[in-house]
Amino acid sequence: MTEAGRVVHKFGGTSLADPGCFRRVARILAAWPEPRQVVVVSAMGGTTDTLVHAVELAASRDDSYRDVLEGLCVRHSDTIRELLPSEAAGPVIAAIDRDMGDILDVLRAAMLLRGFSRDTMELVTGYGEVWSAQILAALLSTLGVDTEWLDAREVLTVQRNSRDVDVDWAASRERISEWTNRHRTAPTLVITGFIASTEDGVAATLGRNGSDFSASIFAALLDATEIHIWTDVDGVMSANPRLVSEAVTLDTLSYDEAMELAYFGAKVIHPSTMAPAVERALPIYIRNTFKPDLPGTRIHATSSSAFPVKGLATIEDIALLNLEGTGMIGVPGTAHRLFGALRDEGISVVMISQGSSEHSICFAVPNALAERARAAVEQAFFAEQHHGQIQRVDVTTDCSILAVVGEGMAGRPGVAARFFSSLGKAGINLRAIAQGSSERNISVVVNGSDTQRALRAAHAGFYLSEQTLSIGLVGAGNVGGTLLGQLQQQARRLKHEFDLDLRIRGIATSSKMLLSEQPIDLEHWRDQLEESGELPDLAKFAMHVHADHLPHAVLIDCTASDDVARLCGTWLERGIHVITPNKRANTGTIEYYRRLRQANRAEGAHYLYETTVGAALPIIQTLHDLVQTGDEIDQIEGILSGTLSYLFNRLDETHSFSSLVEEARRLGFTEPDPREDLCGTDVARKTVILAREMGIPLELSDVATTSLVPESLRDGSVDDFMAALPAFDAEMEARRREAADRGEVLRFVGSIGRDGAASVALRGYPQSHPFARIQLTDNIVLFRTQRYRDNPLVIQGPGAGREVTAAGVFADLLRLAAYLGAPV
Ligand code: ADP
Ligand code: ASP
Ligand code: MG
Repeated sequence: MTEAGRVVHKFGGTSLADPGCFRRVARILAAWPEPRQVVVVSAMGGTTDTLVHAVELAASRDDSYRDVLEGLCVRHSDTIRELLPSEAAGPVIAAIDRDMGDILDVLRAAMLLRGFSRDTMELVTGYGEVWSAQILAALLSTLGVDTEWLDAREVLTVQRNSRDVDVDWAASRERISEWTNRHRTAPTLVITGFIASTEDGVAATLGRNGSDFSASIFAALLDATEIHIWTDVDGVMSANPRLVSEAVTLDTLSYDEAMELAYFGAKVIHPSTMAPAVERALPIYIRNTFKPDLPGTRIHATSSSAFPVKGLATIEDIALLNLEGTGMIGVPGTAHRLFGALRDEGISVVMISQGSSEHSICFAVPNALAERARAAVEQAFFAEQHHGQIQRVDVTTDCSILAVVGEGMAGRPGVAARFFSSLGKAGINLRAIAQGSSERNISVVVNGSDTQRALRAAHAGFYLSEQTLSIGLVGAGNVGGTLLGQLQQQARRLKHEFDLDLRIRGIATSSKMLLSEQPIDLEHWRDQLEESGELPDLAKFAMHVHADHLPHAVLIDCTASDDVARLCGTWLERGIHVITPNKRANTGTIEYYRRLRQANRAEGAHYLYETTVGAALPIIQTLHDLVQTGDEIDQIEGILSGTLSYLFNRLDETHSFSSLVEEARRLGFTEPDPREDLCGTDVARKTVILAREMGIPLELSDVATTSLVPESLRDGSVDDFMAALPAFDAEMEARRREAADRGEVLRFVGSIGRDGAASVALRGYPQSHPFARIQLTDNIVLFRTQRYRDNPLVIQGPGAGREVTAAGVFADLLRLAAYLGAPV
């Protein structure tokens, strides 16, 4: 039978999980432009596992296998009744009932025998495909698609080997042509995947996940031109998307790459699938049943990619055996004997690594075979062990293999370096390493408990920008909220221009927190926080943001909270970078401040807080540069509060002090309780931050602070305070006039000298002084230093407001990215 132009489709169990899935599959086939098609099906999702379980139960004399089978029967008949009219449903249900009767007979025998043979297991587990093929064929027929179904056991002939099967191509070809002669050829043929029979007619299977292999076998037998494997992901991805959320879909893969990935655990395709396709150069497409419009991944002879690495995969439940001894050095045939012994035991070796000293050979086998492998090796080297030439055979179970695959790795230096350094940075211990001489694959053995972390770290090393920042924002009020808006505006450009990948993966407020694996959509974060936010838990929050598969983690504290500030030390000590406009951390005890600096030095975690003084004005950075370049600071003096700056800039004979406080409050320039500004503590905190930056171990209590809040108004409500304040206007006016008579203006200033004397007070300054010439909420800072002695260094500009403060935090974030290597 020559069916040129035919496509072989294969639908996996995930695509046939329930009636809705069957309908979706039928729609894809009905809409297919070429009417002649071959459809290979897996069992309904989970059926094969259930059948395996039933066999094991029976063999262990647990008669609940009957209930398990009953459940399967109900699931299938419900599906059939929902999909098919009763006249079509009847025969299919009857056929399944008959099969169930046979299975019950076989399992009763297994129960009596207290065990099962390979024949039993392969007979029973193959029924799922027989049922799903009949259901799909009947559904297509009722939809008017001319369909026939074929039980692959009638044609596909295999020889069993110790591990799986070899296809008997000649016999299969002959039997399929006999079958075709006996049956009318309907345009659509539904064939069972996974199952086959031996030459003697014994039911066999192609191994778990074997329906993919069936698809390519039938593509070869029926001379199809393409294979489309439909599953539940968009194609072959750079890693299993269930383990690595950043995995990307690959456009193309070569047969060899696909085979290596499949062999090393990418279960999206069975490793044997490629061989029959290679000979005929049949392209294999991996596609998503749930998104049929996507093109999927094309697997073909060559795959072009500028990228050296295609994908990463893991095999779990591996045991590592190490044969070690001086007696092996230079002795020919050791490896031959070793692997010969394993072969005789039917043990397949997954990976081998030998040091060039020949002092040890290390190899990996499935966990379940570890003890048998050890016994085989010990027996083969009994004499050497007896004579002390071989010291020991070590077995380490519960390991995993992590493999990185890609043709572009061949001849390209640096790939291994990147692989190992990503694993090293994540603190993953490597137990063994192997690279095939094709250079298409590098594999390492890691502890089983490290599997996912290792996979994610290695994936990030190849697929993510090294400047990928996992960001958590604590406090999403005025400044935090504005920052998110600014990030939303700039993120795409920063990624495009500088490969800087800023990912907000957590947002916390005092009532809720939102954690997300994928970057949070900054347009809709408020709704998301509202809808799916959970109760805040900053320990969990930090752990989530500090995901070790992402190169860097940063927490931004945009609160004014002492509680959050107290966590900064722990975060830095854990290697999380911290950025904050919150003054609390830097103005806690000097011991805490030293701890922050020490963590910064020891862990390499950056701690940036430019916006704690003068919002975005470059005050901290300037001071830092002065100190680090060896200048000596004599004095720093500054108007450090935007609110108080405004009040005294506006104070004159026509504006009373209380009316200005009222006005500033209305304009949002003050805290809700203006006393928090007027008491001077905020300025004192900023003075402490500057002092400590100068190297002076100042405490907040060391700052001589003069409050502008009259003694009698310190307690009581805000309203009472505002009502009582005018009574003190005369006093303030007298001070203003006194100063004016001297040709001076009043300014509220913080100052710190090199001797450590620090004060915060209202002082007079002549009209010619820089402090006299500022506007609105301007901040201004004067640095008198050895280098800037005659004429001070002055920094002046708006020093408050959500936009500038948020922009200052953003600038700190970019500074951090630059420290981490981004070319911003
Ligand atoms: P089907 O039932 O269609 O045969 P499988 O469950 O056998 O589906 O295979 C698809 C699954 O393979 C995906 O859901 C995914 O979890 C897993 N998988 C593992 N590695 C990869 C990879 N590299 N790319 C895509 N999927 C992968
Ligand atoms: N149903 C079989 C399994 O679960 C074959 C397959 O799905 O490919 O292993
Ligand atoms: Mg599969």
